[in-house]
Amino acid sequence: MNKIPVGVSQCLLGEKVRYDGGHKHNRYLTEVLADYFDYKPVCPEVAIGLGIPRKPIRLVFKDGDTRVVGIDNPELDVTHALKEQANIVAQQMPDICGYVFMQNSPSCGVFGMKRYRDNGYPQDSKGRGAYAERLIELMPFLPVEEAGRLNDAGLRENFITRVIAFNDWKQSVEREPSAKKLLDFYSRYKYQVMAHHVPSYYAIGRFLANMRERDLRTSCDEFFKLFMHALSHQATRKGNTNVLMHLRGYLKKDISGVEKQELSHLIESYRSGLVPLVVPLTLLKHHLLKLDNPYLKTQTFWSPHPENLGLRNHIVATI
Ligand code: SF4
Repeated sequence: MNKIPVGVSQCLLGEKVRYDGGHKHNRYLTEVLADYFDYKPVCPEVAIGLGIPRKPIRLVFKDGDTRVVGIDNPELDVTHALKEQANIVAQQMPDICGYVFMQNSPSCGVFGMKRYRDNGYPQDSKGRGAYAERLIELMPFLPVEEAGRLNDAGLRENFITRVIAFNDWKQSVEREPSAKKLLDFYSRYKYQVMAHHVPSYYAIGRFLANMRERDLRTSCDEFFKLFMHALSHQATRKGNTNVLMHLRGYLKKDISGVEKQELSHLIESYRSGLVPLVVPLTLLKHHLLKLDNPYLKTQTFWSPHPENLGLRNHIVATI
């Protein structure tokens, strides 16, 4: 697999670009995911000329607007400059398939950033870093995550799955789109979408049934929106169990009663949270791949991400 271009907050790669001259090296990114991701590092605060070290900034909420201003010098307002930097990055890096942001940064933070009133008291935790916010506006389907949240097994798997699917779409369909390529693409992802979000599975089915009424570009855009929305939901134990049961249905006539019992027992153990997904999946794969059914063989549900990452070797809390 060619490495996938992914944007990243530069301090996460161990580069000393933080306001205090330090870094926030994330070893999972540099020692594990670096085998699969081709990082495109950006420090927006350095890029707009704030220098290293620099005076700290924070989010201030005033008159219904969130601004990024200096803590010591509230006259310093870098909101516009940070958003402009996001405009530049979106133009310079149209090929990125994901972005890992540093949390708790008034520039890069994505979730639950503290906002202050101009008297210095906290207002709420509903902010988003100005650079990250603008980039997400410009690239609304881009998989994004904060480095800190990658410690959660479910969020980590979901982010990596989305990055790989996003890249797959770009390679398989977006470059030279056709209705056939779109349908072939979705045919491979059907069970994975079912595992992530059943309502989206039905919505995409209805959409594709009426696709001829739209022009190709509109169809691709609308499909991709539905598809990425589906994957943005974590695949829960319930969702994965549903898919395992559907796949088991293909084996009705091909395995013995004892083998069926063994498989059902492992699926139930997974559903109850006693064993990780890899356990029933390995046995199911063993039986199903013998059927030599091309539709089943090409399902991304078997390996939505590199097996070396071991993302399905944990018991995920989300039921
Ligand atoms: S969080 Fe963003 S702005 Fe802050 S040092 Fe890291 S890359 Fe630069």
